[in-house]
Amino acid sequence: MYILVINSGSSSIKVKLFDSRTLDVIASGGADRIGEQGSSIDFKGNRGAYRRELRMTNHSQAIKEIIKALMNTETGALHTINDIKAVGHRCVHGGGRFIDSALIDNDVIAKMEECIPLAPLHNPPNLIGIKEARLLLADTPQVAVFDTAFHQTMPKHAFLYAIPYELYKEHHIRRYGFHGTSFRFVLESMGQLLERSIDQARVIIAHLGNGSSITAVNRGKSVDTSMGMTPVEGLMMGTRSGDLDNGILLYLMNKLGMSVNEVDTMLNKKSGFLGVSGRGNDVRDIIEYAGRGDQRCRLALEICAYRIKKYIGAFAAAMGGLDYLVFTAGIGENSFVMRELICQDLDFLGIKLDPVLNRQTQGTGCDISEKNGQTRVIVVPTNEELMIARDTQRLAGLA
Ligand code: AMP
Repeated sequence: MYILVINSGSSSIKVKLFDSRTLDVIASGGADRIGEQGSSIDFKGNRGAYRRELRMTNHSQAIKEIIKALMNTETGALHTINDIKAVGHRCVHGGGRFIDSALIDNDVIAKMEECIPLAPLHNPPNLIGIKEARLLLADTPQVAVFDTAFHQTMPKHAFLYAIPYELYKEHHIRRYGFHGTSFRFVLESMGQLLERSIDQARVIIAHLGNGSSITAVNRGKSVDTSMGMTPVEGLMMGTRSGDLDNGILLYLMNKLGMSVNEVDTMLNKKSGFLGVSGRGNDVRDIIEYAGRGDQRCRLALEICAYRIKKYIGAFAAAMGGLDYLVFTAGIGENSFVMRELICQDLDFLGIKLDPVLNRQTQGTGCDISEKNGQTRVIVVPTNEELMIARDTQRLAGLA
């Protein structure tokens, strides 16, 4: 019997099928380029690979094709759709309404719909995925797992912006934070990796991927995070600017005549590593070009590392000290260069990298600090889908 985890985005649906008891991955894949030319279904699983190019005009059709692929007689894992005992959905924005994952009913859907203005790009495709899955699997429990839920423990002084208070009361403008599913998974894994409880520890987790955010976790609770009401605030990212003087936006619109859409595109799609380097958004390429002497790529790496350092200092101050600095996601797990740049000169915080361990560690969990480093620096691979599967197993009563 299986748990199906669905991540329904604007033009793709990614899915993973887990054994509902052991949570081993049975198959993974999904639909790409939905509503565009060249849409396709791809799967890899215990019984082989499946690929089919076919026209999929909408998410409804895509989900049906995904289920069909999972039931393919040669490569599929399912005999019937009823083998799916629960469905977990990745949901980006739960606003201030959800402090945990939730068993989906009409009320949960209505609350998610209320959050659409806060995440107009993410919540609508998430909701389409939920509605289509509920049509196909009407009697199967479905669970919504929110990226924002973990950060609902932040105190008011951390989540409020210094703008008129009415904007918070009437329009819910505040910091929400994201990547909560990843932060929760990393915290759980840390305990296992270190074989000791970190319940009382002060932890900073840097989730550094194409989208990046950093979170301060004090005694198991998120107390501050770099992403804000939207995922554009905070660290420098692949194509997102991160923190910016708000006055620049006014300047761009008033003096350079840029439209709201143009500014939006610039902030979300043309900034970050891409904008500074002019080369691309993939940090592997940026490091390679920087090594060959490209000054703008070098600068992009320095800006990124410097900003992460500033957050580490700020969050250590917010928690009155630091016990663990944790790196996760694509860059955090794999790039010893970025970890080295970030941790340079942080000895005053007790952070001392073991250069050999740092260089050796790629994609695996490891303590990469020197023996006498007071603050332990750890690499922990994240796995958001597995966290969603765990929540689904728990809330659907399959544990
Ligand atoms: P994610 O969003 O977590 O999947 O992370 C994807 C990003 O991780 C890619 O865009 C790369 O920039 C980065 N990445 C993956 N592997 C490496 C590596 N070995 N060195 C540097 N960056 C990497």
